Amino acid sequence: MTEMPLDASGAITFGRNPIDRRSEARENGAVMATALADARARAFALIADRVVLAEGSEEPTFDLATVAGLGADPAALLLLGWLPDGAPRFAARLPADPPGRVLVDLRTLAGEGTMPPELYGQLAQARSMLSWHERHGFCANCGAPTTIGAAGYRRDCAACGAQHFPRTDPVAIMLVSDGDRALLGRQARFRPGSYSCLAGFVEPGETLEAAVRRETFEEAGIRVGRVRFHASQPWPFVSSLMLGCHGEALSTEIAMDANELEDCRWFHRDEVRAMRDGTHPDGLTCPPPLAIARHLIEAWLDGRV
Ligand SMILES: [Zn+2]
Repeated sequence: MTEMPLDASGAITFGRNPIDRRSEARENGAVMATALADARARAFALIADRVVLAEGSEEPTFDLATVAGLGADPAALLLLGWLPDGAPRFAARLPADPPGRVLVDLRTLAGEGTMPPELYGQLAQARSMLSWHERHGFCANCGAPTTIGAAGYRRDCAACGAQHFPRTDPVAIMLVSDGDRALLGRQARFRPGSYSCLAGFVEPGETLEAAVRRETFEEAGIRVGRVRFHASQPWPFVSSLMLGCHGEALSTEIAMDANELEDCRWFHRDEVRAMRDGTHPDGLTCPPPLAIARHLIEAWLDGRV
């Protein structure tokens, strides 16, 4: 059952997630035990970016006995939360490829977009949580091994008492415009002819708006004035939150950082529309609907800025 999203973020891949996280319930060991014993409980099973799918289908969840049979450690299951009907959902990390099972890269699944939208949000949550645990086996404070707490939403250090919580890294991504022109760039790793919005991590002690202005100036030499937030997107490679903004240019002369970008240009609205529609005479394109950059571009083309 797909409901209309309440905001622009809910219409973007990974942006819709029906799981009720009930963060206040995680401390309660009885809640975890009840969820594990629930006959409706199912788990996503992943190895890094790769998702196990049921044979002959795109179903990405399995009952807990099956997940244990695939090799998951039952003591390391992470409780993501509950679906609206009360069914618990878990995430399980597999130590190795289970024989005879199909694993598909999450980016590929998201790019295909053939699953119900709500599953992508859950998979993003599962993937980011599992990778956080994989990378935080030792205390950042004292170096001792840590253990899972709070149903998977914490790691505890018995040696020094520190508690560690999953992190999300904010990334500013922006479409900067100057009237009927928009600033797009490309990195060398992009597909040939593909141009996208500029982006960069928000740094400690920095506002989102300041990050938009700093990154645009560093990468393109363009000064940005007004900044407006548009939508956000969980990006589970590995644990970012893309914060999509529109910015108004105060200057127009590009001074590109060739270490970051291969090219950076102003594109007229008609040209951007052709890039979106796949009709650009030089074969130039913009990102697919999977990317929040595409939604920033669409909103600008439609005057929703
Ligand atoms: Zn410690």
